[in-house]
Amino acid sequence: MFQLNDRVAIVTGSGSKKGIGRTIALTLAKQGAAVVVADLNADGIQDTVNAIQEAGGKALGVELNVTSKESVDAMVEKVLEEYGRIDILVNNAGISQKVTVQDMTLEDMTRVFNVNMFGLFLCTQAVLETMKKQKFGRIVSLSSVSAKRGGGVFGGAHYSASKAAVLGFSKNLAREVALNGITVNCVAPGLVNTDIWKSLPEEVANNVIAGIPAGRPGETEEIAAAIAFLASEESSYITGEEIDINGGSHMD
Ligand code: NAD
Repeated sequence: MFQLNDRVAIVTGSGSKKGIGRTIALTLAKQGAAVVVADLNADGIQDTVNAIQEAGGKALGVELNVTSKESVDAMVEKVLEEYGRIDILVNNAGISQKVTVQDMTLEDMTRVFNVNMFGLFLCTQAVLETMKKQKFGRIVSLSSVSAKRGGGVFGGAHYSASKAAVLGFSKNLAREVALNGITVNCVAPGLVNTDIWKSLPEEVANNVIAGIPAGRPGETEEIAAAIAFLASEESSYITGEEIDINGGSHMD
């Protein structure tokens, strides 16, 4: 795959046992990066760190709440103390909620935006100075097919809106930092084979599959592979872009 030796990567939300973030962390580590496993969930962090170390990789676990500037700044300080650089940031931490706009409260909207967009802003802002000094950086953020086609199976309109905001924010930032050797890109996964997918009743699952030309949900490895490319040296002329990874369920 891609050469990430000597790179230092932060992956937010990488403490979810069956989540996409853990696979991203493992994939980057297997390609040589030292990976910062950052999450709210301390047990989950340890599991991911163990998995990386068992695979012969380098990992540092850090408890992180992306919605707190204090917590984000403390994480960045710790990473710089440990490794002295930050090459890759994967903004993966995200939350969702199935609720109609009619029933949605302002608190629901705020909670989702706080993690998916404002938390992503805090993490991104916190690594920029270091990446600019290095004249190298790769920022990859998780959007979603639901941002582009207006919803999917699980999220509400607040989720779609927050993931659409991630696309606009990333494109704007891509212009701002292009001369600093920093690229900013997104991936927009469709349905992925995580716990939520497995919890769907068979009938609902069959209906969802009927709308996916590939006839199946994506695997976390298929999301991580695209992220590893966008995190690599080889993707240096790609910025402000988003990669749809959805088995054909949405095509621009
Ligand atoms: P997940 O729920 O399995 O994992 C998310 C992780 O984020 C959890 O470990 C959680 O502890 C962490 N997290 C939540 N709030 C946090 C906070 N405030 N600070 C730090 N960490 C926090 O989710 P997933 O299904 O693996 O999704 C990962 C990303 O991919 C999300 O951004 C999601 O919106 C996006 N996505 C997922 C799918 C899918 O089908 N699963 C599809 C499209 C996009």
